This record gives sequence, C-alpha cells and structure tokens, in this order.
Amino acid sequence: MKIHEYQAAQLFQKAGIPIVEGTITTTVDEAVQAASGLGYPVVLKSQVLVGGRGKAGGIKVVKSEEELHEKYAQLSQLSIKGYQVKKIYVVRAIDIRKEFYLAAIVDSANDDIVLIASSEGGVEIEETAKTNPDAIKKYYLQGDREIDAQRFAPFIRSVFDTPELQEQGQTVFAGLLKTFFDNDCSLAEINPLVIDGSGTIYAADAKINLDDNALDRHEDLAALRDMDYEEPDEIEAKEKNLSFVKLDGNVGCIVNGAGLAMATMDIVKLCGGNPANFLDVGGSSNPEKVLNALKIILRSPDVRAILINIFGGITRCDDIAAGILEARRQMDLPVPLVIRLTGTNEAEAKEMLTKEGVETFSTMREAVEKVVALAN
Ligand code: GDP
Ligand code: MN
Repeated sequence: MKIHEYQAAQLFQKAGIPIVEGTITTTVDEAVQAASGLGYPVVLKSQVLVGGRGKAGGIKVVKSEEELHEKYAQLSQLSIKGYQVKKIYVVRAIDIRKEFYLAAIVDSANDDIVLIASSEGGVEIEETAKTNPDAIKKYYLQGDREIDAQRFAPFIRSVFDTPELQEQGQTVFAGLLKTFFDNDCSLAEINPLVIDGSGTIYAADAKINLDDNALDRHEDLAALRDMDYEEPDEIEAKEKNLSFVKLDGNVGCIVNGAGLAMATMDIVKLCGGNPANFLDVGGSSNPEKVLNALKIILRSPDVRAILINIFGGITRCDDIAAGILEARRQMDLPVPLVIRLTGTNEAEAKEMLTKEGVETFSTMREAVEKVVALAN
C-alpha cells in the first residue's frame, strides 16, 4: 500500500529525520493561511500516489499570495497519470544547493534489504543507473537489522564528503531504517534529500510503500489507505474473503488456491484467451463464496464467459456445485459458465449439476479450451 508524501514525511519526522515544515490543504484558503504561517516563498506539492509529479507540473514554487491563488487553482485542475489532485501540501521553500537520493528497499531477488544512496538525487534513480551507475552506492543489510552507526560509517562516507554532512547523514540513515522496520515498509525513499544554503540536510520528498501483509499489525497505517487508488471490486472481494485482482481480459476465472489460479490464467493465455481476473476462493468451501465471486466478476461488462476450475481437497466439489446452483437460482447469468471439478466429492457435485442440466469437465485443458472458444 502506498501512502501520500505528507503522511510519509510525518513517519520520517517521528524517526528523527529533519523534514521541511508544511501543512496539508484541500482549499486555497487553507493554503493561504499555511503560507502566511511559513512565510513566502512556499512550494505547492500535489499529493497523488504516483511518481514524477515534478515533471508533470504538480510541484510549484510560489512567491506571493497572488501567485499562490493562481497556482493553487491550476494544481486543483490538474490530473497526474489519471489521478485528480485533491490535496496540496504547502511547504516552506528551501534554497536547494544539492540533491541526494536515499532509500531502503526490500530486494526480494537477494532475500535482503538494501540501502541505496546517490549523490545524484532529484532525478529518477533509474535514469542515474543508466547515465552514471558509479554514482549509486548500495549496502546490503545481510539480515542484520541493528541500526549501528559504526557499521554504516564507511557507507555514509562514500555518499557524503564532509564531516558535517556525514554526521547529519548518520541521523538520516538511522531514521530511514527505523522508519522502514517500525512500519514494515517495502520501500522508504527520500528523493531528493537536500542540502540548503546553510549546509543543513532535509528530506524534501517522502515516499513509503507498506507491506500489505503486515498491515494487520498497524491499524493506524491501514487507516491511511486512499480509496481513490483502490479498485472498488477488489475492496469488496477482500471484505468477502476472496483474493481477487482485476485484469483486462474477457474470461472470468473462479479457482481454488492461488497456485492453481495462476496456472489457470497461464493456460487460458496458452489457449489464446485473456483472463478478466485472478480469483482464489480459498481453501474452505462455502457455497456463498461462489455466489459472491460470480457477482463480482459479472460486474465487469468485458466478461464473455466464466471458468470455474476447482481441484477439490479441503474444498469440497459439492459445496462449489451448491454455490453454482444457488447462483443460477438467484441471478440471471448473462454469460456461459464452464465448470471443471475434480477431487473431493466430485461424483456428488457432478450429479447435482447434471441433474440441473449443467455440463462439467474433468480436465483443465478441455474446460479452458471450451471457455476460450466461448469468450472469443
Ligand atoms: P516528485 O517529482 O514526485 O518526485 O516530487 P518531489 O517532491 O521530489 O519534487 C520534485 C522536484 O521539485 C525536486 O527534485 C526539487 O528539485 C523540487 N522541489 C521540491 N521541493 C522544493 C523546495 O522546497 N524548494 C525548491 N527550490 N525546489 C523544490
Ligand atoms: Mn521525488
């Protein structure tokens, strides 16, 4: 889950990282008030959960109240990568002398957490990686979560060249790791970390991605979720204990087990189709789940046919069949269902369905070929 810059900045500040003073606003009046408290010039920063706001014109320095009115109105009209700007963070403008890049990231390929720093900040790190890879320094934690100044000293010296900066750098690194661990982040990034005219370091941007699987132990953070960036169908699916991801094809998929769900999507593709979703009804079978899954999938107008692919273990095929029959009673199914059931209580399930005139398949290949033909 992503959180906004102003929220991430608060987490950084709590961990001891100097941030730029600012106020979050939703109206120009709030912004005028914030700016008069901070003193001009101020920077207006669009709060959208996508990167590259600067390039998209979402960051504006303003020198007077008159200019603030004009630029605030412009930003309020702006949409960045399809997301309308709804909140604007008003911060004190800093006289930036140099920009650095700093991040702690989960590196899953290496089973580790890596600290990345660069004296070429402000631009996208991917760009620096291409043009000047030597400017990017990496430090792998190698499983050691201790935040020990001694340990990081050589790394900090490789990024900052004066003792004054190194000392401040140490505070920032320690705060970055503390933020990262305390909040179960998958990414904590400061780009740019800036030095002003007096040689003081500040985090001038703040980006944090939280590990969704850890949100259960961070109620306060889970509450920061911005629904403007969530698929409504995915939210509803989560409430109904279904693991659902919307995709852009036309073959709806209802499967039990994440592995089988992924394999099913692969085979749909292999047979020339395109999945409309990933959906795992989970291990325990409850007819209600099939009903809910069908309702959510059918909300998409693109869906032309639905494949139900069940490998019965803990999931009982007869429970799934009951769900399918209940769905047929409750709603008018606008698209064909193709059903493949095998495993626990398969015979009972097939009998229940056949009695009602519903065809079933035993192998995945037959069922997938059928559903793709129907969808196409
Ligand atoms: P991003 O483009 O979404 O990463 O947004 P940033 O917050 O990183 O802002 C983009 C750029 O705007 C930064 O790299 C800075 O060059 C500039 N910027 C941001 N805040 C300030 C500020 O307080 N003063 C000045 N002069 N420039 C700023
Ligand atoms: Mn940035």
